[in-house]
Amino acid sequence: MTYTSERPLRVGIVGAGPAGFFAADALIKQDVPVSVDLFDRLPTPFGLVRYGVAPDHQKIKSVTKLYQKTLDDPRVRFFGHVSYGQDVSLGDLRRFYDAIIYTVGAPSDRPLGIPGEDLPGSMSATEFVAWYNGHPDYAEKTPDLSVSSVAVVGMGNVAVDVTRILAKTADELVQTDIADHALHALRDSRVEDIYMLGRRGPAQGKFTTKELRELGELANADVVVDPEDTELDPMSEASLAEDRMVAKNVEVLREFSARPQTGKPRRVHIKFLSSPVAVLGEGRVEGLEIEKNELRDRNGALAAVGTGETEVLPVGLVLRSVGYRGVALPEVPFDNKRSVIPNVLGRVTESAGGEVVPGEYVAGWIKRGPTGVIGTNKADAAESVRALLEDAPELARVADADVSPEAVEQFLHDKGVPFFPFDHWLELDARELEAGRAQGRPRVKLTRVEEMLRRSP
Ligand code: NAP
Repeated sequence: MTYTSERPLRVGIVGAGPAGFFAADALIKQDVPVSVDLFDRLPTPFGLVRYGVAPDHQKIKSVTKLYQKTLDDPRVRFFGHVSYGQDVSLGDLRRFYDAIIYTVGAPSDRPLGIPGEDLPGSMSATEFVAWYNGHPDYAEKTPDLSVSSVAVVGMGNVAVDVTRILAKTADELVQTDIADHALHALRDSRVEDIYMLGRRGPAQGKFTTKELRELGELANADVVVDPEDTELDPMSEASLAEDRMVAKNVEVLREFSARPQTGKPRRVHIKFLSSPVAVLGEGRVEGLEIEKNELRDRNGALAAVGTGETEVLPVGLVLRSVGYRGVALPEVPFDNKRSVIPNVLGRVTESAGGEVVPGEYVAGWIKRGPTGVIGTNKADAAESVRALLEDAPELARVADADVSPEAVEQFLHDKGVPFFPFDHWLELDARELEAGRAQGRPRVKLTRVEEMLRRSP
């Protein structure tokens, strides 16, 4: 069918994080008349930008200004505090939207699959990050920072974020929008040694150079790298010529390894070729057993292979940062192997390689897996929106009675879903910014849903 300003293409987006906003933005920046509703299970928009990006990386968060602009467009609406699967079903969305885009991200984490992983004192970086960023689901997940040593497993940018936040002083973090509860806990932190552990070598670190460098610029912590760890096998050495970032990372790590320790109160130990094999402890974490690895060529890629040589790190807290993981949505196909919604160029398919499900699309981490930076989602969402627009003339038509924007609001009212609309978010945003101004911080976050829903008198 042809869409007009009276009968625009109606798109419902499930998940108001970066991918959801980039999808909405791509939709309003093309010629087909559209009307877009963004749903989020939390009252607050922006997903991982608010709850994932580190609080001391405020520049990255400035992308919310673009998202806010998208929300200012009269063709886009925000329905916060509406949970897909609980408050609305697929059938409900199908009633109101010609097309649905799932942009729910990857809210869970990958386990290590080693003994002791469930002991108190062992948690995922996903939980730790969400805790310090004030995600309402994790406000109570207080880690025990009375311990002197912590292991962070993984060599990606999340591991670097977690390590850096643990190594900074509360005074360094007080100017950020870190959650108040985390600021208080970090102020009392007794942590002195943080071990960031990579199962492979320095040339296989997944971190970006800028983030790695920051570990060497900490006011309160020395960075410690064993020079032996920076010696490379021939394949890793060859990779330096092929990948500039890898070469830069190794250069930075070598520079770190040559530094003398200056006696700062904390130390960040970056350790390579080390795999955790067991979390140890009686009733709570008391140590982490790690095995020394060597690298072996496995079909052109270097894999970590255990040597049998082990040691125990005397840590009281283990944070596994080995990747986020997507979670299945009710009534939506899911590829359990990859933990994504199976798709072809953003068109949802019944299974990996299966038939296309008409009218359903996917973008962001739940489409491609948890890789890339916030900006990566722009091209990713644009690809999905392109597919949607190509299909648009053939999409099943939503009944005209249900196509008016008011119909959705009425439906939610009738169902007793207390959704949180855009103007309420603006009020909440203003309250947080105002509280921040009073303390010289970017914002002071509300961290409980009840507080968020309570409007100012
Ligand atoms: P990631 O980049 O995929 O890193 C995961 C790390 O976990 C890798 O070092 C991986 O090692 C390791 N790992 C996986 N399984 C393991 C196991 N069983 N034992 C030991 N180590 C294991 O994931 P991420 O750090 O969660 O980051 C997700 C995405 O967000 C990335 O694209 C990242 O760049 C992005 N991000 C960006 C920023 C930023 O721009 N500042 C900040 C945070 C996150 P192998 O390589 O050996 O598999």
